[in-house]
Amino acid sequence: MTEVWLPAIYCQNPHCPNGIRPIFLPYPNPPSTSEGQPNWPKDTWRAFLACHYCERGYSYAKSDVRWEPLNLEGESDAQNFWILVEAKCVQENCGLPIRIFFFGKENTSEKKRDSTVANGCIGAACELGHFLAKSPDTVQMSPAYIIE
Ligand SMILES: [Zn+2]
Ligand SMILES: [Zn+2]
Repeated sequence: MTEVWLPAIYCQNPHCPNGIRPIFLPYPNPPSTSEGQPNWPKDTWRAFLACHYCERGYSYAKSDVRWEPLNLEGESDAQNFWILVEAKCVQENCGLPIRIFFFGKENTSEKKRDSTVANGCIGAACELGHFLAKSPDTVQMSPAYIIE
């Protein structure tokens, strides 16, 4: 049995259908549970993470991250993928991206992902605090192998 430590968060939506189950974050080469838990993320870590189950995104801090054991055999359902979505803020000349990490499943459609970002991530902001613009064609995406 290969059991590893993986960082996880719990959706902040009290009505999330995923309930109290952990949502695992991406982490390259996770250590075996026979070893200690890595010291990750750094103290100032903050990330806006959107949930596939309830389509709501929230800002998470280091104190929200828990290291949870995951059995790599059998629990394939827990193998998520994360996408970094970079969207424009409302301030036309700002240029700082709003970074939203979207957690999905293999069958998650682009439509669902885009509607989650547009409707469930109203609180997401760029570094200067500008909120999301309602223009989905400005969205850029890349796979997230670790959330920094
Ligand atoms: Zn949720
Ligand atoms: Zn901005």
